[in-house]
This record gives sequence, C-alpha cells and structure tokens, in this order.
Amino acid sequence: MIVYRTKDDLTGHLLSLKNEDLTIGLVPTMGALHAGHASLVERAAFENDLVVVTIFVNPTQFNDPSDLEHYPRTLDQDLEMLRSLRADLVFVPSVREMYPGKDTQTFDLGGLDRVMEGAYREGHFNGVAQIVSKFFLMIHPDRAYFGQKDFQQLVIVRRLVNILNLDLSVVSCPIIREKDGLAMSSRNVRLSKEERKLAPFIYETLVQAREQKLTLSPEQVKDWVRLRFLEQPLMRLEYFEIVEDKGLTSIQTWDEKVNKVGCLAVHLGEVRLIDNLNFD
Ligand code: AMP
Repeated sequence: MIVYRTKDDLTGHLLSLKNEDLTIGLVPTMGALHAGHASLVERAAFENDLVVVTIFVNPTQFNDPSDLEHYPRTLDQDLEMLRSLRADLVFVPSVREMYPGKDTQTFDLGGLDRVMEGAYREGHFNGVAQIVSKFFLMIHPDRAYFGQKDFQQLVIVRRLVNILNLDLSVVSCPIIREKDGLAMSSRNVRLSKEERKLAPFIYETLVQAREQKLTLSPEQVKDWVRLRFLEQPLMRLEYFEIVEDKGLTSIQTWDEKVNKVGCLAVHLGEVRLIDNLNFD
C-alpha cells in the first residue's frame, strides 16, 4: 500500500499504470474509519484491479465550524486498517493541496440539494460536489463506492456524474450497523456513554415506523415519528421524511410505484446523526 500526500505523486503513479489497462475502484472517505468504510473497500477490492482510498476531511462541506473542529481524526489507525484490507493507494492530501485557491464552483443539483440534509446544512452538498468532482477528475475511477448511510449524498453523486458526463459507475453499498442497530458513523465516538445507550432508539424508530405503514398514511407515520422523538428529552429530531429514491420528493401515498426511503437526522447531545431505511 502506498500513501500519497500530493496530487502530482498520485496522478504520476496512476499515469505510469495507464498502459496496463487496470480497473480502478475509488472509495472517498473522511477518515476515522470503521467497518462501514471497510465494507466499501472490500467491495472495491473485489470488483477492481486497483483500489484507491482518499482520506480528506473536506472543509467546504461543513456548515458548522464546531463540527469540523471536532471531527475525529485517526490517521495511523486508518492506515493500519487499510493495509489489512489490502487497499493499493491511499491519498491523504492537505486542505491546501485540494484547495490551492478559494473554490467558487457551484453545481446545479436540480433541487436534490435543497431538501432534508440540504435544508439544514446550507452549502453542504455543493461542498460534497466540489471535492467528489475533484477526486473523479484526478483519479478517473471506473467505479466509485458510496454508502447508503448517506443516502441523499449517494443520489446527488449520481446526479453529479450525470451532469459532468463522466464514464464511471457509482456503486451503492448497504448500511453497516452495530449489533444494537445503530448505523456505524465516525461521529459515534463523540457520544457519551449515556447517549450511546440511547442511540439505538433511532434505528428502532425507523423499523417501527415502517411497520405503521399497515394502518397509517405517510403523513401520519411522520407525525408518529415526531411524537416519539418528543418523548425523548435528550434527542431532538431535525427532520423525518419518506421520499422516493431518485428525485427525493416526499411520497403522499403508499401506492406510489417508486422506491421509498425513510430518512432522518437527530441531535443527540452535541452530535448530529443521520440514518435511513428502505420503506417499500
Ligand atoms: P465518511 O467518511 O463519513 O464521509 O464516509 C465515507 C463513505 O463511507 C461514504 O460513502 C459513506 O456513506 C460510507 N459510510 C459511512 N458509514 C457507513 C456505514 N455505516 N455503512 C456503509 N457505508 C458507510
């Protein structure tokens, strides 16, 4: 495994392999790696000749400076994990390397960036589009691996690939959960013991909400979820939506012939967690 810190070193290496016609799988991450990330790397290794993992805490996608400041950074452990997963190339650039000047690029994401996460995290998806497009154009992967954990991001990255007319497949990977159902996230380590004990309530609520489909309308299920969170003094629900999985519009009835996903964001103490579940 080779670790590169500059764009020139990474692209130089990739250029030297050009004639070998190897397929490249890219796994973009912000580090603090866990089994969720590992599942993406394993899949990339299975489906490609060469796996490139990026570790970069991208400042332009953080709307909250305190979130950026407290984002966990565990590079030595991350590299150890990637070595054991047999990643080939790891790119760990500095902020200056990725943003030599202020990035003023804006992407028209067709409104996908204005709902759910986008409604509460101003500019977040434009920042995601900035960094992901830089990695795509620099690395030219055949496949890029993204987790369903960040479901809206996955939908937006697909749109981005379409806008930029790139010849790559976006591979969607299932959410990896702790035994008690909590979706794995780099931010989970920031939960106190007490908060960590409460956190499985989030997934439990999604599962139970889906069961309410039998008797309640989508709007009533949303109210049911809101009420459940109101009874939890330490948690604050930011949003819960049930959307179709391409245009992210809210569904009105269960009869709609679209794939349905229930998505939410919750504040638990200082930490903001997101999760989602297929509602078909
Ligand atoms: P992050 O480092 O949080 O930006 O995540 C990097 C990639 O890993 C994204 O595509 C995430 O959706 C994915 N990911 C994060 N957590 C999980 C998880 N629990 N299960 C599957 N994929 C995940």
